[in-house]
Amino acid sequence: MVSRFFEAVVRWQRQHGRHDLPWQGSTDPYRVWLSEIMLQQTQVSTVLGYYDRFLRRFPDVQALASAPLQDVLALWSGLGYYSRARHLHRCAQTVVQRWGGQFPQCAKDLQSLPGIGSSTAAAIAAFCYGERVSILDGNVQRVLTRLLAFEGDLAQSANAKVLWQQAQALVPADATHLQMRAYTQGLMDLGALVCKRSRPACGRCPAQSSCMAHARQQEGDFPVKTRQLRRRTERWWLQVVRRAADGAYWLQPRPAQGIWAGLHAFAVLDEGEAAAQPPAGASGAEGPLWHDPIRHSLTHRDLVLQPVEWRVAAYAPEGPGCWVRSVAELDLGLPAPLRAWLMQRLASAAP
Ligand code: SF4
Repeated sequence: MVSRFFEAVVRWQRQHGRHDLPWQGSTDPYRVWLSEIMLQQTQVSTVLGYYDRFLRRFPDVQALASAPLQDVLALWSGLGYYSRARHLHRCAQTVVQRWGGQFPQCAKDLQSLPGIGSSTAAAIAAFCYGERVSILDGNVQRVLTRLLAFEGDLAQSANAKVLWQQAQALVPADATHLQMRAYTQGLMDLGALVCKRSRPACGRCPAQSSCMAHARQQEGDFPVKTRQLRRRTERWWLQVVRRAADGAYWLQPRPAQGIWAGLHAFAVLDEGEAAAQPPAGASGAEGPLWHDPIRHSLTHRDLVLQPVEWRVAAYAPEGPGCWVRSVAELDLGLPAPLRAWLMQRLASAAP
């Protein structure tokens, strides 16, 4: 079973897997790491444009480590899950400061870096150094739990650990670097292209003859994961401060923790009553003007963002921030829904 599955995936990847992605073929850990982080929670088609732009601006780990965080966030704007960008920046600085600018060469050490989990560490180690370790992200969990008809509930860490051991056991001790690259990419491709969440294409799967879930016609029963995170809806009031003289909007940095951490945004208030009061530090305030709410979904919650606009003659808030007068000035780290809202208003509205 071990070598049969491994060899089938390697062979299949070489014939039918993806080969044209810009990060493929590289054994440069910086490029592989960047692609792996960008691909977490994000589709390949979305990542493609960002990856090239990012590499042009930050061609190596030193360039990224020495850049201001705001520049990194600005370039990440629209990719979502901004904690990835903050970790990316911190990880680059750690590689430069503690590892002399060279990424560590084994999964165990890679995992000690900020933002690099066990599966990402395994991917970098396998692609770049040929280490015989298996990746096990969400897609690969699905493939392997079906292959093995693994009935343990992955919500329990003990079961997740057992699956991890079984994933490692599928990698032969004598696998070569080239095989490890094809196998790792093959697992990714299988999860993304064949063994999909619903209606897996078992007829095209190289593991069909050894897949236990398929033999039992129980593909849909795996993986077993009981914990369901309940979505909730939250309403946020956005205090939009606009300068009457030139129509500029005031944006301020979000706190370093929590949603949109470190990005620029309007002040967020959690009560409508507060939003209906003129902003502290404003003079000559006129309003409020209630705009249509913006709906935005995060991983486990739906946000209803209610912009409440105040036109002011002058504004002297306590914290830092900046005025934005034109679309060209939106070259900041901004949450995607606020960027879209501002772009529309700045492009169309006169002061
Ligand atoms: Fe997934 Fe079907 Fe392949 Fe089994 S045979 S691994 S269920 S695609």
